[in-house]
Amino acid sequence: MYKTYPFTLEKLPYGYDALEPVIDAKTMEIHHDRHQQTYLDNLNKALTDKNDLHSKALEELMMSDIDAVRNNAGGVWNHDFFWKTMIGAGESSINDDLAAKLKKSFGSVDEFKVKFEAAALGRLGSGYAWLVKNREGNLEVLSTPNQDSPLREGKSPLLGLDVWEHAYYLKYQNKRADYVKAWWGVVNWGRVEELWKA
Ligand code: MN
Repeated sequence: MYKTYPFTLEKLPYGYDALEPVIDAKTMEIHHDRHQQTYLDNLNKALTDKNDLHSKALEELMMSDIDAVRNNAGGVWNHDFFWKTMIGAGESSINDDLAAKLKKSFGSVDEFKVKFEAAALGRLGSGYAWLVKNREGNLEVLSTPNQDSPLREGKSPLLGLDVWEHAYYLKYQNKRADYVKAWWGVVNWGRVEELWKA
């Protein structure tokens, strides 16, 4: 659970270069130190004069009707989530339990990936592709615009892919499809399984 206002930036769970060559160190540095920091700064700014929100956790602020609060809280939470579901290339694979669940939900692991990639590529402009667990415990693939969260629909993220251009433009330029395909190599499947079973 997150602490409350004033929020501070969490460190990356690994070095900037940990996800090379899939995500380059420069992209990670700018993405974390500048983009996520900006969401955090803007969130604190938006909360400064809202004393009634100072005791709220990030997850609660993400439900706010105030645009500046909701968007910037989402920007902080979504990035923390994104960092934590990645790991060095080749360090993780899908274990049998999770593979069976994905097969049951989507037909096969490959069909799940096709569906997830379609969500990532079909998101016009900026946003995220997600694998989520719904209230019934079933898995779904969906995408959200900007910094919106599946939590707002009562769905728990298990895996999320940032498809904002700032996430891939330095290395992949306009080729979002190449980034999405390469990204499978750095997914932390152990973390996905932990969240699924939680
Ligand atoms: Mn981002």
